Amino acid sequence: MSKKEEKPFIASRPLTLIYKLPISKTLPFWEGLKQGKFLTTKCKNCGRMTFPPQADCPSCYSSEVEWVELSKEAELLTATAVMVKPSSFAQEETYIVAVAKLKEGLKAVGWLKGVKPDPAELKEKIKPGMKLKVETAISKEGNPYYVFVPA
Ligand SMILES: [Zn+2]
Repeated sequence: MSKKEEKPFIASRPLTLIYKLPISKTLPFWEGLKQGKFLTTKCKNCGRMTFPPQADCPSCYSSEVEWVELSKEAELLTATAVMVKPSSFAQEETYIVAVAKLKEGLKAVGWLKGVKPDPAELKEKIKPGMKLKVETAISKEGNPYYVFVPA
């Protein structure tokens, strides 16, 4: 079998895709971030808290959830520097992704800022169990987000 030959072509300019991600069911989370608050959902039926917030309880499937404010205190479980980035983050500098345990016992994934993402600094300054705090910010596109920083 012969490999199909590529026909002559002219490459287009790079195209940008912008997806509109629906957030109506978690809107208080995003509005809270804009105000510097770190919110999540708690099931009114069984009391389970979830992070990220969910419109329906993953334990009892109730849609009766309430919004509660989290403490913004966390402890590092693990972290890694991402050098090979997904295409949607291709323009970003190397960044650190952390998994942290929030004071409330929930796990959360987020970027870790305030530490250089080079191997020596990671090894020296990043330790499991270290105290982190959550900070909120607004991206240049106008989207609210949160990051972890060393406490
Ligand atoms: Zn529940």
